[in-house]
Amino acid sequence: MAVVWFTLTFAVMYTLKKSLGQHFLHDENMCRKIVETLAVKPGMNLLEIGPGGGAITKYLFTLPDVNYKAIEIDTEKVDYLHKTYPALVGKIITADILQADKPFDTNFTVIGNFPYNISSPIMFRMLEWEPMVDEVTGMFQKVVAMRIAAGPGSKTYGILSVLMQAFFKVEFLFEVHENCFTPPPKVKSGVLRFTSLHNPFNIQDKRKFIMVVKAAFNQRRKTLRNALKSIMPLQETVTADTMMDKRAEQLSVQDFVDLFERYFI
Ligand code: SAH
Repeated sequence: MAVVWFTLTFAVMYTLKKSLGQHFLHDENMCRKIVETLAVKPGMNLLEIGPGGGAITKYLFTLPDVNYKAIEIDTEKVDYLHKTYPALVGKIITADILQADKPFDTNFTVIGNFPYNISSPIMFRMLEWEPMVDEVTGMFQKVVAMRIAAGPGSKTYGILSVLMQAFFKVEFLFEVHENCFTPPPKVKSGVLRFTSLHNPFNIQDKRKFIMVVKAAFNQRRKTLRNALKSIMPLQETVTADTMMDKRAEQLSVQDFVDLFERYFI
């Protein structure tokens, strides 16, 4: 009887909510492979975004000498995790990652199989928290992951490539097959690792830098001279600058920083 009941409990343990990007990993080898990408340091703070049914969670909160916390928006999954792993009580913040406060007062590492519908906003959250984020390991749709890791000169190079690479070393670690998930997503996935470079370009006004990079790419077929016209503070200095004849996708991260320092500081 007990076994049947348990099975039944398992069968109804949770619903899968498409609207919350819920594709749960069930391939244990893949779960371990993702966890193994972490640079575990004694006493480190670790935040998991979207633990869901606990696929990688169970390997994370049991890491010795690691302060683990998670942020999960779905109360049903939080209840499930609390019941399944009582040691998680007090470690899961029921909140929207896009609204939540910073979960730690000192530097932390982030990991997650991200909800794909909000993976870009999550990256902007990481940029906002960047002074305290040492490392991020995240699962993305493969095309999104490749875009973020792309270099200048390619069509896939865009806003998040420049912004994330301005603050982090970005590595595409490996591809993840659809069948590793329940339900399988329609596309392949990829795992990226971001390692903080501690603001190597010394960008002081991050918001303004983001605004300029966005403006440059929002009209990516235009030259920067035209794309940035409406936000350029010193119109007259632009005319002789050959960099302004280029398009956003031709500029390296260093070029963007140079342009930013020349006209926007
Ligand atoms: N890590 C789990 C689940 C990944 S699916 C696994 O690999 O199996 C994405 C998870 O993110 C889901 O649990 C979903 O409920 C959660 N999620 C979706 N939007 C969120 C948000 N805005 N804030 C926090 N968690 C969110």
